[in-house]
Amino acid sequence: MPFTRPTLLLDERRCRDNIRRMSAKAGRHGIRLRPHFKTHQSLAVGRWFRDEGVAAITVSCVDMAACFAADGWRDITIAFPVNPHDAGRIDRLAAGSRLCCLVESPAAATMLDGGLENRVDMMIKVDTGYGRTGIRWEDEALLDSTVEAVRRSRHLRLAGFLTHAGHSYRAASVAEIARIHGETLARISSVKARYQSGGEDLVASVGDTPCCSLAEDFRGADEIRPGNYVFNDMQQVTLGSCSPRDVAVAVACPVVAIHAARREIIVHGGAVHLSKDTYRGTGGDPVHGQVVELTGDAWTAPVRGAQLVSLSQEHGKIRAPEDLVARISVGDALGVLPAHSCLTANLARGYTTLDGAPLDHLSGREWRRP
Ligand code: PLP
Repeated sequence: MPFTRPTLLLDERRCRDNIRRMSAKAGRHGIRLRPHFKTHQSLAVGRWFRDEGVAAITVSCVDMAACFAADGWRDITIAFPVNPHDAGRIDRLAAGSRLCCLVESPAAATMLDGGLENRVDMMIKVDTGYGRTGIRWEDEALLDSTVEAVRRSRHLRLAGFLTHAGHSYRAASVAEIARIHGETLARISSVKARYQSGGEDLVASVGDTPCCSLAEDFRGADEIRPGNYVFNDMQQVTLGSCSPRDVAVAVACPVVAIHAARREIIVHGGAVHLSKDTYRGTGGDPVHGQVVELTGDAWTAPVRGAQLVSLSQEHGKIRAPEDLVARISVGDALGVLPAHSCLTANLARGYTTLDGAPLDHLSGREWRRP
């Protein structure tokens, strides 16, 4: 098909394979899979998870929770520190679904509780090494007082402890990802063990895509929450957590100019389509995407040496080998495997399957706030 604008292509077969593989892994290890839906934010793609038996999901904001609840999802964790000013909307959602929120201070728990009528499950966010949010795993005083505030509340139920090892994305090797994963499991399970005696059935929840894709030992965790694996991207390829064949999205970018002497191809596909995210390309410099060729109903393996090396708002500059530059004309389109598929999907606001069918993304929908 000719492309008149950058278009996010979704390969349903690869996507369903990615979904199936992680579900099978969780099943093998006897842990609950609660995939993070912030990557795809699509009701249609969500239903592919349902086809694999997924019943519990993670989202990153109340709006997203409301959209998926309206599509029949009844067990939702909002994995973002709760804003107590959202208590009214959280309360309305909790009337129809099992809703779980995150806190990391007694004050937030008490303030949220004051605005609720319905029961809301509460996970305490623990920082096991990433250093973004959460109570440090060894800060027993703050853990104690936060657990105490939840247990004392009228409407909150302590559900467990949740951590996110986002520093796996900074790992220099697969061995380092394995070390981070082992450390995360040890730290979160020690926190859970400290409070387990209360008779509650507490959950230890972990999960980022690099660790979950590579690990084969999840002892200490009850639940995993990877999200990016649904599409994967070049950051995952570079980390070693998937191969380019597992990347399920590519941005079709119309070719608008060719500078053969500089071996550069200019495409319509800039920062507003791909985000400014990077990964370390061949040669070691940060790049924004890997070029593939579009074959009508699929895309090829990565074209060696063809990378998206710089972005402005609408333009993308591809550095390409001589034979690709010679083969390509203005009016053609090239595919780009993005550095970071979550942001690319969010910017695209919708998908086109390889059959040409449109699929929804929440950012492109009209929906009512709860
Ligand atoms: N849980 C939390 C709290 C997150 O912030 C994220 C991603 O940012 C995930 C799970 C999913 O991790 P990934 O994007 O590596 O799949």
